[in-house]
Formats: sequence, C-alpha cells, structure tokens
Amino acid sequence: MNFSNKRVFITGASRGIGSKIAAKFRSEGAFIIGTRTCSESKCETVLDQWYDADFSDEQQIVNCAKWLSNQEIDVLINNAGINTNASFQDIDLEVFKKIQQVNLLAPFLLSQAVIEGMCSQNWGRIVNISSIWGKISMGGRAAYSASKFALDGLTVALAAEHSKNGIMANCIAPGFIDTTLTRRMLSNKQIKNLTAQVPVGRLGEANEIADLVLWLSSKENTFVTGQNISIDGGFTRV
Ligand code: NAP
Repeated sequence: MNFSNKRVFITGASRGIGSKIAAKFRSEGAFIIGTRTCSESKCETVLDQWYDADFSDEQQIVNCAKWLSNQEIDVLINNAGINTNASFQDIDLEVFKKIQQVNLLAPFLLSQAVIEGMCSQNWGRIVNISSIWGKISMGGRAAYSASKFALDGLTVALAAEHSKNGIMANCIAPGFIDTTLTRRMLSNKQIKNLTAQVPVGRLGEANEIADLVLWLSSKENTFVTGQNISIDGGFTRV
C-alpha cells in the first residue's frame, strides 16, 4: 500500500488506536493531519500537522469541520471516542449528550466537510472507529452503545449515497484493545475475566486495528463499503 500522494485526517491521533493508525499511514508515505484535545496532550507519535479541538464543545466541532472543508483530504478516519459506564437509570443527561457529540456528531460533521472534495475527485475513503458495543451491548453501556450503533447507521447511509462516487465508507468494531481507555474502564481482574472469553485469549493490539484501517483506506479496497467489521479475537462470534 502506497499513500505517498494522500492526505489523511485522523481524529484522536495523539494516543491509543489513533496514534498507531497515524504512525502506519506515515510510514506508508501519507501526509497526516491529526487531532488532539489541546496542545498539552501527551502525543505518542509525530505527525505532519496537529489540529487541536475538544469535540465535547459543539462549536469546536463546527470550527474543525469548517477548517477541514477547505483542506484537500483523501482519507478521513473518525477515531476519537469517549466512554463512561453507568447503569441505565444513572446516566446523566450532560454525559449522555457529550458522548453522542464526540462519538457521533463529530464524525457526522467532519464527514460532511470532506465529502464534496472526495466527490469532485471521485475517490475517497472514510473509516469510522466504532466498537463491538456498536453491534452488541451489555449493562452499563447505553450511552456508548447508542453512539456507536448510530455511527454504524451513519456509515451505511453514507455508503448508500456516495459509494458510486468512489467513496468507500466503513466502520471497524474493535473488541478489547490494550489502550489507556481500556485500562481506565476495566480493572486487571475484569480484563482477566474478559480475555478468558476471547477465543484468541488476549487483549488486541492497537496495531492490529491500524492494519485493517490502512487496507480499508487503500486503493486496494475497491468493493468493501458500508460494512462494520469486527476485530475482536472472535469475542462476538462465540
Ligand atoms: P484513547 O486511548 O482514550 O485515545 C482517545 C483519543 O481521542 C485521544 O487522541 C484523545 O485526545 C482523543 N479525545 C478524547 N476525548 C476527546 C474529545 N472530547 N474531543 C476530541 N478528541 C478527544 O482511546 P482508544 O482506546 O485509542 O479509542 C479510540 C477509538 O476506538 C474510540 O472511538 C473508541 O470508542 C474505540 N474503541 C476502543 C476500544 C478499546 O478497547 N480501546 C474498543 C472498541 C472501540 P487527547 O490525547 O488530547 O485526550
């Protein structure tokens, strides 16, 4: 895969899955613009350009989308995401709205911002990082699952409308991946119990997600669109 003439925009590129996606694209020659919440964020990788935006503030999403609509973007990776677990009746309204804003509204507005440019060159790739909790769910996940199921719907609708314009739009649904998000959400005991239910028997690595993102974003992908591909060590299939 050669991305040497491609410009890639990745949200949440400072750490975790996003930083590994950025590093892989960069090693394949792409020009990478990545987002982080602020310039003080600890960045695990070197990018060509940073855009600072906290998507829990709607105006910052709008500003980012406006800025993005004036850039030439070949590949958009909507990766930034947040999660909090709470029992259904305890979900705070503001927390619910914040999760929808970061996980769903930002991908929607940023996709809108790049679509015209992609249509005009008759080529584009959009990969939305969803979750297994956007295909199945469990207690405590209502706000997160609502956002990720909706992200899948957004992706399918986008693919239905724009695949004929050379735009392949897909979701990836990671399982339990070893990042700070996972380590913050789950205790070591919970991780041990969960990995016992994963056929592969371990947490996934962010690099394993990044490999699939690169292929879906590449010229080699000419017919995979509107999909939501699980990459979870088999967890959702057993
Ligand atoms: P992470 O390690 O917590 O990194 C999150 C990234 O998103 C960081 O770059 C962070 O920027 C940015 N971010 C956080 N809050 C933001 C906000 N309010 N506005 C804009 N950007 C924000 O997360 P991750 O585990 O790599 O997860 C990446 C994606 O994969 C998410 O969409 C998540 O839902 C999904 N996912 C993860 C797992 C998993 O096991 N880790 C499983 C399934 C799906 P700063 O550094 O500036 O804070």
